[in-house]
Amino acid sequence: MPSKIFEILEKEEKRQKETINLIPSENFVSEDVLRALGSVFTNKYAEGKPHHRYYAGNEFVDELEDEVVDLVHRAFNIHKDEYSVNVQPYSGSIANIATYFGVLNVNDEVLSMSLEHGGHLTHGHTASITGKIFEFEHYGVGEDGYINYDQVKEIAKRFQPKLIIAGTSAYPRTLDYKKFKEIADSVNALLMADIAHIAGLIVGGAHPSPFPYADIVTTTTHKTLRGPRSAIIICKKNLADNIDKTVFPGIQGGPHMNAVAATGVALEEALRPEFKDYAQQVVKNAKALAEELKNLGFQLVSGGTDNHLILVDVTPLGLTGQQASDKLEKEGVIVNKNMIPFDTRKAWDPSGIRLGTPAVTTQGMKEKDMTAIAKRIAEILISKS
Ligand code: PLP
Repeated sequence: MPSKIFEILEKEEKRQKETINLIPSENFVSEDVLRALGSVFTNKYAEGKPHHRYYAGNEFVDELEDEVVDLVHRAFNIHKDEYSVNVQPYSGSIANIATYFGVLNVNDEVLSMSLEHGGHLTHGHTASITGKIFEFEHYGVGEDGYINYDQVKEIAKRFQPKLIIAGTSAYPRTLDYKKFKEIADSVNALLMADIAHIAGLIVGGAHPSPFPYADIVTTTTHKTLRGPRSAIIICKKNLADNIDKTVFPGIQGGPHMNAVAATGVALEEALRPEFKDYAQQVVKNAKALAEELKNLGFQLVSGGTDNHLILVDVTPLGLTGQQASDKLEKEGVIVNKNMIPFDTRKAWDPSGIRLGTPAVTTQGMKEKDMTAIAKRIAEILISKS
């Protein structure tokens, strides 16, 4: 009997080939990453840490996890005597939650960017368990769309957080980790960098590194880093015991070693010289896309981009984010609807769309293609249909 699932899979493969993917948190992984993800490591239970497992038969799983941890140290250019690495979190959300439970007590104060201004749900939004268990206060951007570090400092002084998060899902500008560290030090807070979106840019040298400033770094592996859907926590050695115990047995059971293997393959690829070119090109493409959109009259939050993503206010076109996203999808251009800073609309149908260049850059597109895509977006969104 033909498999219904494989029929659906073929349709999805075709959809991915035939559309233009501008979702900034997505990418196309290599055949090798897919091969590792679909490998026999999927068959194995490996609760525990390397060489300290609750199951037998983990000789090669141990070798694998040691190697992937080593690749993380190499990719981020950090020393194993200073930073501990956990490659087991199932996702970025779990990595963040494990970090909070690893270094905080219930109801402790945390300062992070608000979702509306570009933060993530797990940075203490009220709809997320994180916002229910810890006491969050938020900073945002100024009218110019840039993080206002004086505001961050002022809130930190008043709120006295135990943890400050420098991390974003929808912020088109460079983060200043040194400034975040100075603010964290001034109130004796730990600094956590959630680099989920920009990990690949950091490894490829296209965004400043959070090291040596951050005490903890969390990241997904599937965005600009171009790996499987998984996550990593890197922290100063003294925090590792608590964080590791929170990942397992605190929150998770057996790690997905197939995902860990695929993360390793993605890191091997990210350590090749070509990946530097890729990361630089992602940013060049985003800048080219932003520039042409501006020429065509679009209103961009902060007026442009320094990284892989662009936020567009579509309300001057008489559209909501949902309407713009629907119109584009009909024509094969896939984007995110997204809130913009000071949005008066709700997350389900916000005022903006979020565009990014990681996936189209993997397909080999360059600046001239971005100009063409911007023109196509204008045709679709400005057309009357
Ligand atoms: N942190 C940031 C900054 C993100 O952008 C995301 C996902 O978009 C996450 C965490 C959560 O990752 P996941 O979807 O793997 O749980």
